[in-house]
Amino acid sequence: MTTAPVADQHRLLEVQALDTRLAQLAHQRTNHPLRAQAAELQARLDDVENAHVTSRTALGDLKRELAKAEQDVEQVRSRAARDQARMDSGSASVKDVQALSSELENLVRRQEALEEVELEVMERVEAHETALAELTSARDELLAQRDRLAADLERELAAIDEQARAVQTDRAQRAEGLDAALVTLYDRLRGQLGGLAVALLRGRTCEGCRLELNPSDVARMTAAPPEQVARCEECGRILVRQADPAR
Ligand SMILES: [Zn+2]
Repeated sequence: MTTAPVADQHRLLEVQALDTRLAQLAHQRTNHPLRAQAAELQARLDDVENAHVTSRTALGDLKRELAKAEQDVEQVRSRAARDQARMDSGSASVKDVQALSSELENLVRRQEALEEVELEVMERVEAHETALAELTSARDELLAQRDRLAADLERELAAIDEQARAVQTDRAQRAEGLDAALVTLYDRLRGQLGGLAVALLRGRTCEGCRLELNPSDVARMTAAPPEQVARCEECGRILVRQADPAR
């Protein structure tokens, strides 16, 4: 049977309130809504990053395709220029001139077709560059948002930590010199009962488990010496009797 001075029992209630407050602050810290926002933002950012990489790769492919198309046009053009130069030189035979002239006609048609391909690829490159620029600015905006959110979260967590430090200081003062056996029991019960180890007995109700105790148990507690540490029959918590039950 644990006994502890009545004042210590009441002071333990205050310590409990501060420990509960600390637990709430720790919970707020872990479950801060900005964390969920940051995770959601990061998921969006990951999507945009992926789309950005895909778009950049596709643009690279298109640019290679464009270079190839330009090269094709250039080849035909220089072949035509060579043919033209031979014709203009006057050194080709009549037969050669006929052959060259027919090849030149073919080359002109081929060049036109290739230039059409080149133009079409060029348009696709431009459209893709626009899309990539939009993705880049969307990504940059999300990155900026993420940085702002991280700074906000850091500030909010620092405020919570500051509150927690103040509560810790208060708690240390209130707990100073408390009956050692009472503190041991309190610490053990806190571990077992989800942090709430001591509660007030209000009327016949344990404020720890909110259950109404049977009248004979309450009568026994009321009759016991006030130094005797009472326990709830239902939840096992330390029950502190009100100094003046009528209050
Ligand atoms: Zn209880």
